[in-house]
Amino acid sequence: MPERLPSERLKEEALALGFQSVGVAAADRPPHLDAYRQWVGKGYGASMSYLTRHLPLKEHPGKLLEGAQSIVAVTLNYNQPVEHKPGSPRIARYALGRDYHKVLRNKLRKLASWIRNEYPGSVCRPCVDSAPIFERDFANLAGLGFFGKNTMLIDPKRGSWFFIGLLLTTVAFEPDHPFEGGCGSCTKCIDACPTGAIVYEDQRWQLDARRCISYLTIEHPGEIDAELASKVGEWTFGCDICQEVCPFNQPRENNPERGVPTEEPDFKQLRTWPSLVELSQIAIADWDELTRGSPVRRAGFDGIKRNAKINIANR
Ligand code: SF4
Ligand code: SF4
Repeated sequence: MPERLPSERLKEEALALGFQSVGVAAADRPPHLDAYRQWVGKGYGASMSYLTRHLPLKEHPGKLLEGAQSIVAVTLNYNQPVEHKPGSPRIARYALGRDYHKVLRNKLRKLASWIRNEYPGSVCRPCVDSAPIFERDFANLAGLGFFGKNTMLIDPKRGSWFFIGLLLTTVAFEPDHPFEGGCGSCTKCIDACPTGAIVYEDQRWQLDARRCISYLTIEHPGEIDAELASKVGEWTFGCDICQEVCPFNQPRENNPERGVPTEEPDFKQLRTWPSLVELSQIAIADWDELTRGSPVRRAGFDGIKRNAKINIANR
């Protein structure tokens, strides 16, 4: 077992790069691996076959970076005030700005350079959403928040409007303590979810992606079942309802960090979206122009037109 090194300077460096919070977890087997296997086995991952395909890589961080000893977990606030105008597309807050993968990866690369300079011969690998790793598990182990019933990671000080980034490294830093906490008796997100996508099974709260508006409007290929489509409401890309109602996301006088807007210029709303009617008829060249560098591109040309038509029908 290598000697564990203090992480104070690493954390100072991460905060200086603009991350909101930072912690360290040991690069071990993720605690939710078996629960995840069960979840996928039940079909709750819907059509996202990559979730099963990547399972072997998720078993241990060492499969993504040989000799990984630590995982540095960071968060970056993407919150911003939103005002939805009737007849315009409703887009989840995280997707209003530029592609967050690039923003987080660039910052994590800078942190990786710092680690390599400080610890010559060390190797790092940034992971932002697209790598097969349990981000929330390691962020929880790194002390950054607890699992809410809506399955989001919640930091009681800051809420849940943040991205999680991970940096795998061969440097053995001293790990932090896992975050202990919970929702108590609150059920606001479960009560507010229009499709009943948050379910309690096997003694834990789980997300049935097949019913989740976020999945349906972004990942689901083809037509959306009529019963679910009627509940999609005006969401055109993603859904923020279970975060909007969460008490941990409400601003508090004695808690200056909760509910504050992001300071990251790339996450602020960058473009004016066409109306739902225009979006439902958009030409491919205009779609290409409109969504360049935007997370909304993930829904695809056919997907966004389908969603816009559903939104119009639901009005
Ligand atoms: S994102 Fe929307 S549909 Fe999905 S669980 Fe949350 S409230 Fe329900
Ligand atoms: S709304 Fe309530 S139950 Fe849901 S995640 Fe927030 S605190 Fe937990």
